Amino acid sequence: MTKQRILYGSIEIGGTKINCAVAETTRNSNSIPSILKEKQIQTKTPDFNLNEIFKFFNPYNIHSLGIGSFGPIELDKNSKNFGKITSTPKILWRDFDLLNNLKEKFSCNIYIDTDVNVAALAEGKWGFENELQSCLYLTIGTGIGGGMFLNNKLLHGISHPEMGHIIVKKHPDDNFKGVCPHHEDCLEGLASGFAIEKRFGKKAQSLNPKEKILMRKIISYYLGQALANYILILSPNKIILGGGVMNNKNLLIDINLNVKKILNDYILKKEFNEKIDQYIVSPKLGKKSGIYGGFALCVFASN
Ligand code: ZN
Repeated sequence: MTKQRILYGSIEIGGTKINCAVAETTRNSNSIPSILKEKQIQTKTPDFNLNEIFKFFNPYNIHSLGIGSFGPIELDKNSKNFGKITSTPKILWRDFDLLNNLKEKFSCNIYIDTDVNVAALAEGKWGFENELQSCLYLTIGTGIGGGMFLNNKLLHGISHPEMGHIIVKKHPDDNFKGVCPHHEDCLEGLASGFAIEKRFGKKAQSLNPKEKILMRKIISYYLGQALANYILILSPNKIILGGGVMNNKNLLIDINLNVKKILNDYILKKEFNEKIDQYIVSPKLGKKSGIYGGFALCVFASN
């Protein structure tokens, strides 16, 4: 008997780009689906983007659609606002009822979570040789966000975690006031790509060697604190750092050194010492954690 083929759709909605993809797998399979077609769209207005998304998926008979979106987004299934983007600084998308607008266009099942939560799910399920018991996925891009896969579920509570907005101790040499409109010098306010750009007056990739060293010193100081806090609170089995700012291998090394220094042998695990480079790592799915995350929502919700 031939196994029944099934098509899934995934949409990764970011502040500047939206990635869409269709993948194929067999029914009741938990393995990673094969991507058949992908498209990247610039994030513009919700109406324009929803039409583009619909045009992309229209030729396919999609069984279900998984969405990883920037937030904040209402994820309480009992709320009348479930699936609605809430207080984003992206004015055109503020209060946009993402889920219901998609439901008007698509008749298939639709699953939705944050971009970082779905990336954590894909990395936890498919990124490593064996499925992880838990993992934390943090993106350090224009903004900073974190998602947590734990005991076979994504972590939600009264809202979804907002790990980018925790408070960190200021570096003694850093007099930058921070860019978060809500908190100024929270983690995102000090260590995001946008904070780097505002601090140095240019994007991280355009920094000269001297500025790069200073950037690494300051940013790893903040991210080291954040990661040590996440470890102490959540005890993840692995931490995965994605996002554009992390396209700098030396930064990862500096962050790991700072985490080690802060934990200071309090937890006697090799993961926080000689094996820290296998504990705090780059995404195994590369830049595709988010798009695979949408498929992971479909696969693990449908089976
Ligand atoms: Zn903040």
